[in-house]
Amino acid sequence: MAAYSFDTEVVHGGEGLPVSPGLPSLTPIYASSTYRYSQMSEMDAVFGGEQQGYVYQRYGNPTLTALEVVLARLDNGSDAVVFSSGMAALHAALLLCELQAGDTVLLARSTYGATLGLLNQIFGPLGVVVRLADFSDHAALEAALQQQPLPRVALFEPLSNPLLQVADVYTVSKLAHSVGATVIADNTFASPYVLQPLDLGADIVVHSATKFLSGHGDVTGGVVVVKDAERATALRTISKLVGAILSPFDAHLIHRGVKTLALRMERQCQNALAVARWLSQQPAIAVVNYPGLAGHPQHALASVQLCRGQFGAIMSFEVKGGDKAAVFRFMDALKLIIPVTTLGDVYSEVLYPPMSSHRDWSPKQRQQAGIGEGLVRLSVGIEHIDDILADLKQALAAIG
Ligand SMILES: *Cc1c(COP(=O)(O)O)cnc(C)c1O
Repeated sequence: MAAYSFDTEVVHGGEGLPVSPGLPSLTPIYASSTYRYSQMSEMDAVFGGEQQGYVYQRYGNPTLTALEVVLARLDNGSDAVVFSSGMAALHAALLLCELQAGDTVLLARSTYGATLGLLNQIFGPLGVVVRLADFSDHAALEAALQQQPLPRVALFEPLSNPLLQVADVYTVSKLAHSVGATVIADNTFASPYVLQPLDLGADIVVHSATKFLSGHGDVTGGVVVVKDAERATALRTISKLVGAILSPFDAHLIHRGVKTLALRMERQCQNALAVARWLSQQPAIAVVNYPGLAGHPQHALASVQLCRGQFGAIMSFEVKGGDKAAVFRFMDALKLIIPVTTLGDVYSEVLYPPMSSHRDWSPKQRQQAGIGEGLVRLSVGIEHIDDILADLKQALAAIG
């Protein structure tokens, strides 16, 4: 029986019903920007922080909380806050370090292109200076850390893009802490299945949840995980005030993806090792960069630092004598593996770094960094290994 007129029922009908007993076994998508309380005094207490509760979506949402709880646990952090993209998460992590005009950020030379862009184009005009260093070379890193002015923040990707160099998170953190820098690890390439930087000394972990965490190429999101509970309050405030919050629908998709992270990663890492071994035996391939190969310069480090005896799902390889035209012919010839500007999905994906992440570098700069014009980045999916290898084989034949 309707309590109000039709015109009013369409607006309010069915809302505010109690959900228990019989709670949903999965967190629903709470598409509600606000929360109501039966007593105003209760809402007052929530606003005043004397009582836990939800009041407004930008302050927190149960669908987001569920995802934040699981992501904090996966990285062994005290808390996590999700954001609308990996870049929004990186931005929040840098704000969390309270950078001021004149402060220096020490950034690993091989990071996601937009990370350098964020520092140069957004933080640069505010007076923040970027210094670059090779985080796999401890002597060079130490020198860069000790250079005046001392850096406030050290930001790096433990598995570098696109050469898959492995940084020693423990040593990097120790060296950075010795000069008072806060350590931010962008752990997107490894995922918490393969690497847990907070356990090794990092202070803050960032992920683009667009990649392995969601894993299906259907959502954009990011997360910041903090080791110390004291930082969590400040991080929440940044999220509230900057407002780059994740939508509950996207949080649901990421949470759904996370449920299969271990299964996906297990298969993807196994496939990647098999692909790396196969590629390294092909006469048409000059180099394969994959930490799981015995010949990788940091294979020993990767073996102890990475978890579960796995080495991740991403590699890069160089087509012998290859240039842009040869790589494009190879990529055009692929039938199963898709050429896209992302990674970490259930689908195998290739990308040409000189066209994308390192486009703004000159060929000489790329060559000095070891990024040849024949370099291909491959993120290995969960398809059957035979089909992945067959696709690579027929595409390599097309350029042979
Ligand atoms: C994709 C990516 C980002 C940026 O994440 P978005 O979700 O695209 O904003 C940052 N760091 C790394 C290592 C990435 O691969």
